[in-house]
Amino acid sequence: MIRLQADLHTHTIASTHAYSTITENCSFAAKNGIKCVAMTDHAMTMPDAPHCWHYHNLKILPRKIEGVTVLKGAEANIIDYDGNIDIDDETLGYLEWVVASFHKYTCKPSTVEEHTRGYLSIAKNPIIDIIGHPTTSMFEYDMEKCVKAFKEYNKIVEINESSIMWKNGSRENALELMKLCKKYEVFISIDSDAHFHELIGQAPLALEMAQSIDFPSKLVINSDFDMLREYILSKRPNLDI
Ligand SMILES: [Zn+2]
Ligand SMILES: [Zn+2]
Repeated sequence: MIRLQADLHTHTIASTHAYSTITENCSFAAKNGIKCVAMTDHAMTMPDAPHCWHYHNLKILPRKIEGVTVLKGAEANIIDYDGNIDIDDETLGYLEWVVASFHKYTCKPSTVEEHTRGYLSIAKNPIIDIIGHPTTSMFEYDMEKCVKAFKEYNKIVEINESSIMWKNGSRENALELMKLCKKYEVFISIDSDAHFHELIGQAPLALEMAQSIDFPSKLVINSDFDMLREYILSKRPNLDI
């Protein structure tokens, strides 16, 4: 059975439809064996996003809260099909971790061809670490083609518990995506996308799915904090984690 040691996509009250503080998130994580939490509130074009000062001031947070390593990041919105996100260069300079996701509020859903072009372009954007919840039925795409590109450009593919739970079609799409990641040996991250502290590190549906197809734990980047740290330092060698 795969166990999680990090949660790489979480929200705090800085996103107004989330309900816990970073301290509450970390304290729940600490009690449940989670060693690292990426704080990834919504970037600026989302209606409930914090002001850009939220990101500019992340530097004042300690590296560890309640003993849990905090990665200071954002969930960027993919805003077109050319590989662009809604975070300016100055703000990116303050971030240690970037999830990039399609949301219908910030990018109008289009055709399978356009979504495929969008994911292929975002794969090439060097600032992105994780492709957030690429399983929503609104943004269907050529999964096999894109999974190969995610591998080529060293992106982590997210299996998102919250999407599996709440978004139409995500369960089937997540299973298909996981099978492709297994076939092509692409790193996945099983994340909660928690909007409340008691959901941090919790992904029973995704973990059950992984077990059902015998998904190798060595490809689940957040199942081992040392493996995750190695990945992060390969991209950001100066980070003090
Ligand atoms: Zn999202
Ligand atoms: Zn999210």
